[in-house]
Amino acid sequence: KVVVGTKVDHNHVNWVTAYNMLTGIRFCVSRINAKVDRDLTDLDFDAKHKFSFDVTGNELTPSAKYDFKFKDYSPWVFRKLRGKFGLDPADYLMSLTSKYILSELGSPGKSGSFFYFSRDYKYIIKTIHHGEHRFLRHILRDYYQHIQENPDTLISQFYGLHRVKTPFGRKIHFVVMNNLFPPHRDIHQTFDLKGSTIGREFKEEGLAENPRATLKDINWINRDMHLSLGPAKKAWFIEQVQKDVKLLQKLEIMDYSLLLGIHDLTRGNKDDIRNSALKVFGPGSAAEADDIAGNPLQRTPSKMEKARQARELRRVINKEVPVPLDQLSANRLPDEASEQKEHRYYADDGGYRATSENDEPGDVIYYLGIIDCLTHYGFVKRLEHFWRGLSHPKDQVSAIPPHGYGERFFKFISGIVMSPEEHARQRQEGKNN
Ligand code: ATP
Ligand code: CA
Ligand code: CA
Repeated sequence: KVVVGTKVDHNHVNWVTAYNMLTGIRFCVSRINAKVDRDLTDLDFDAKHKFSFDVTGNELTPSAKYDFKFKDYSPWVFRKLRGKFGLDPADYLMSLTSKYILSELGSPGKSGSFFYFSRDYKYIIKTIHHGEHRFLRHILRDYYQHIQENPDTLISQFYGLHRVKTPFGRKIHFVVMNNLFPPHRDIHQTFDLKGSTIGREFKEEGLAENPRATLKDINWINRDMHLSLGPAKKAWFIEQVQKDVKLLQKLEIMDYSLLLGIHDLTRGNKDDIRNSALKVFGPGSAAEADDIAGNPLQRTPSKMEKARQARELRRVINKEVPVPLDQLSANRLPDEASEQKEHRYYADDGGYRATSENDEPGDVIYYLGIIDCLTHYGFVKRLEHFWRGLSHPKDQVSAIPPHGYGERFFKFISGIVMSPEEHARQRQEGKNN
């Protein structure tokens, strides 16, 4: 499978950094996995280990292509977390290391973070600010505890926290986390929802050029969308969101959002990908477009990116098409996947199939989670609150203190979940009024 996105190969500006990240992860994860399992101690949460890689190698680290320093944080804690989230250790290593091909997602947010997908699109590496890094270390005990009590949490699943240092001394912190969207299913619509309306609109004009853009709250409201879940799933979902928001409030986190990808079963996989690939890469790519089925994140790139991707795709097609790792996971039956099977709605492939009032399955599958959970309500936010609060009604301002943020978020999210029947009734009532 080829995927639309920028492949990070040795011609890419971030190739060395990406290579070093993966080399570091491989080493650290293998190292910790090789140890005999034991219980966590308090010290494990504060642990950090420094490694130095160079071209010759030394008694501690194997030789690497480049010289760099690498830091691994709380390796035992993350090993336990990966286990709790049902990851297979060998699978994890394979995804992140087999050949150094990642795909880069520019910088989709305003924060300046970079996103890389593992080559099988199961995992995302996100570079984070030093402040976010410090904050994650600070809340790691609470996060870990929450995962123990809520293995089905909607909050981002963190699998590792690391730092890579370039020869020039630049320190880059990053986390490895779950890609909410499945590698093998096309996502037809994406929303990033916060429950605020200020600055929460993707300009619809942009959709023509960018049909896969991530839409926001105002777009959601304007389309009269709802999250179609029958009573059983609705109750479970709302309860989980409530528990998660409680934690986020307690930890004074804000600015998080519900990321929601909708797969329309009636549209299936190929057609759409085919069309979007045709659009991005031109008519010569019809055959290749069929190869692209399975792209999880149909992001539509800028013009410059498009040109680069077109070149990239041609290169991939002419030379080597990365072998999908699907075979690997196919070999692993659900009941072998340790704890995964205990997780809710595993039957929906990690997503939530829409249901009706009497639990009949609907036409769409939702893939969702609460993302961007490392912003602490600190100085910057307080400042922002002050300035923006002057010109906007209070609870509409995006940066309100964490408690209010959580309340507003929960109110919005729980308010959009309803069975299709309920939605139809609401609509009717709206008309009558
Ligand atoms: P900002 O702070 O400006 O919101 P950011 O750099 O912190 O941006 P995020 O909000 O974490 O970035 O994510 C930006 C986008 O990247 C999301 O809207 C989503 O499209 C994609 N993304 C982030 N995390 C995931 C994930 N776990 N799975 C799939 N896509 C993701
Ligand atoms: Ca965000
Ligand atoms: Ca952010």
